[in-house]
Amino acid sequence: MTIERPAIQSFQPPVRTLMGPGPSDVPPRVLSALARPTVGHLDPSFVGMMDEVKTLLRYAFQTRNDLTFPVSGPGSLGMETCFVNLVTPGDKVIVCVNGVFGGRMVENVRRLGGTPVIVEDAWGEPVDPAKVEDAFKANPDARLFAFVHAETSTGALSDAATLAAIARRHDALTIMDCVTSLGGVPVLLDEWGIDAAYSGSQKCLSCTPGLSPVSFSEAAVARIRARTTPCPSWFQDLGLVLGYWSGAKRTYHHTAPVNPLYGLHESLVILAEEGLEAAWQRHRDNHLRLAAGLQKLGLDFVVREDARLPQLNTVWVPQGVDEAACRARLLNEFGLEIGAGLGALAGKVWRIGLMGHSSRASNIALCLAALETVIR
Ligand code: PLP
Repeated sequence: MTIERPAIQSFQPPVRTLMGPGPSDVPPRVLSALARPTVGHLDPSFVGMMDEVKTLLRYAFQTRNDLTFPVSGPGSLGMETCFVNLVTPGDKVIVCVNGVFGGRMVENVRRLGGTPVIVEDAWGEPVDPAKVEDAFKANPDARLFAFVHAETSTGALSDAATLAAIARRHDALTIMDCVTSLGGVPVLLDEWGIDAAYSGSQKCLSCTPGLSPVSFSEAAVARIRARTTPCPSWFQDLGLVLGYWSGAKRTYHHTAPVNPLYGLHESLVILAEEGLEAAWQRHRDNHLRLAAGLQKLGLDFVVREDARLPQLNTVWVPQGVDEAACRARLLNEFGLEIGAGLGALAGKVWRIGLMGHSSRASNIALCLAALETVIR
């Protein structure tokens, strides 16, 4: 043997308080669900649990869409699943960009042979509906519209109901990124008329990272069925995945991540027990508490008040403060993780998450006291 046996021992992660842009703190109930015995991914008991996950997700997304299930992969795979199934070469897609994740949507459209029509807003601003209306008027042949509901790179929330209504008036289907919004602020797929949505397990659902709940309307399914070119991804081809996630006879498509799905099931049960309205209210109340404390520390928000995400608070780093050194002290001295800026905001902001199980009073108290110490 040429490769020596490594003397590596079990990994013991430190205990952290997670107040960044995700993952958020995972509650003990979800951690213990993950540790339950693994069963086969076609075991009848597991198939029953999959059906419950779909029911719980329909509640979380507020939709009756039959095609609602978690994709086996992170939020980025949910994003790609939406685009790869709905975009065909030559399609014109109106895409809103007001931060990092809108930019990734553009990249998806380009790689699939579509033509993105970019509607740009400044980082920190919500998507401007008037610009979207203008883009549709200038591009009446656009078949798809895509936007990020909660832009995690800036902390801005866009008006999904208004945006989706514009797309509907122009006969386009809407893809919405609700990775950071689901469970933290209202996400009402049916009421708003969203045709395809994807989220992530690790934000306001407070499960471990690595699963992406998705949902598709009947109109989206009809568009996918009418494709004349095959979906370019075998793994994400919804027609194939569905043999495993729905129907009377479940057939092998890929080996589902069994234990992570136990975790997602538990996190969705916790959300249903609390109730969506109560969860939204908790996120709102805790945001207001944190915002009051941050303002006392002299930290200013990047996003104007009426467009702030309660679950992701982005503040400017005060002049003369070494932002990376502060975050390192928070981590090393207080076991507290907050987020750095991304893309155009790198080095300029901190992103403080109050997502899911992380959105609680003890976390706010710890964060404010720790921040006060490190910025002094
Ligand atoms: N979209 C948004 C708005 C996000 O915040 C993220 C992750 O932070 C993603 C997509 C990608 O999700 P993931 O990192 O799970 O692939």
